[in-house]
Amino acid sequence: MSDLKTTLDVDRIRQDFPVLAETVHGKPLVFLDSAASSQKPVQVLDAMDRVYRTTYANVHRGVYTNSEHSTELYDAAREKVARFINAPAASNVVFVRNATEALNLVAYSYARHFLQAGDEIVLTELEHHANFVPWMVLAREHGVKLKYIPLTPTGTLDLDKLDDLLTPRTKLVTFAHVSNVLGTITDPAPIVARAHAAGAKVVVDGCQAAPHMPIDVRALDCDFYTFSGHKMLGPTGIGVLYGKADLLEAMPPFLTGGDMISNVNFEGVSWADVPVKFEAGTPAFVEAIGLGAAVDYLSALGMDAVRAHEHEIVAYALERMCEVPGATVIGPTDPDIRGGALTFTIRGIHPHDLGSLLDREGVAIRAGHHCAQPLHVRLGLPATARASFYVYTQLREVDALIEAIYKAKKTLRK
Ligand code: PMP
Repeated sequence: MSDLKTTLDVDRIRQDFPVLAETVHGKPLVFLDSAASSQKPVQVLDAMDRVYRTTYANVHRGVYTNSEHSTELYDAAREKVARFINAPAASNVVFVRNATEALNLVAYSYARHFLQAGDEIVLTELEHHANFVPWMVLAREHGVKLKYIPLTPTGTLDLDKLDDLLTPRTKLVTFAHVSNVLGTITDPAPIVARAHAAGAKVVVDGCQAAPHMPIDVRALDCDFYTFSGHKMLGPTGIGVLYGKADLLEAMPPFLTGGDMISNVNFEGVSWADVPVKFEAGTPAFVEAIGLGAAVDYLSALGMDAVRAHEHEIVAYALERMCEVPGATVIGPTDPDIRGGALTFTIRGIHPHDLGSLLDREGVAIRAGHHCAQPLHVRLGLPATARASFYVYTQLREVDALIEAIYKAKKTLRK
């Protein structure tokens, strides 16, 4: 049992998250599913509530005070996100619904436009469906070829194979910065350098990274970086596509309609400047404002401290899980290369049954293939269980998880 403290003042942080004081089946909620979606602090809820209650009006349209105010707040949210990932300018940040939409935007507006039949895309065996299916559809409909960076037995990417996969026909390389199943942290910089040397652009799926560690897109030098607001204390319905300016300029729009035009007449249409060109229709501006508040919250904690905290939690969770008879940890067991997610199986218990039994104890984990079916085929497992952590996770919640697993084992033995 642990009464140790981690880098962050978690007791203080938890006071900002009303949901964490709730109970499930009469037990205190132990929320260990932040990799699916995180909880929201009052600072985010209040920022959105304030807009809806006091100044709500559409952006970009009216010439009246409240509309101008909405536009200012929306623009300020974009600036905050740009600073958060060290983008050169706010115009490098396109607001989308989520990472899935960001990746589809790149597939449709960049790849469909700039790749030819016979060109190659290198991805990896561990991708989430969001960074898999858009490329599969492109391969099927456009004749591009997909190649996969394989996994090592410890669940890292086998980068020794990368140079064999890169050819003069490779136009795009894409991979998850952090795996949502294995937790594997992949350093993008060397892959970006090798891909660029081969003449390919790089798309990084940062969905499980941006919420948990400092991100510097300029240092990474990737061409596109994608993530979702709802996994980083923000609301649902808002996500981010970072893109290099020349690429965003050259790409045609993804969706068309209102707001994203510069001029429309009966003869034709011209597009608005980047990033508005990619934001057709009324944007989710209240959600963007909420994401801006989430970015403020995380920045105040400090992303180095967030990462250090999760490192401590995952190190402790790995240690405790290894004590459980019949438990197998899936993915790296070195916390230095593992994000804040612990995926595991328990011999003799289907992950779904385990999830239901844990729920009775108030412990919320995820069970299934975690939208990474090809990876589960590679692992030879139909499903796994995943406990994932965030800024509000306590070491004693790891204890609660382990105790609940022992209890589930006992229940099933009876
Ligand atoms: N990539 C990864 C690695 C993810 O974990 C997720 C969400 N589970 C996504 C992409 C897709 O995110 P969203 O569902 O918010 O679009």
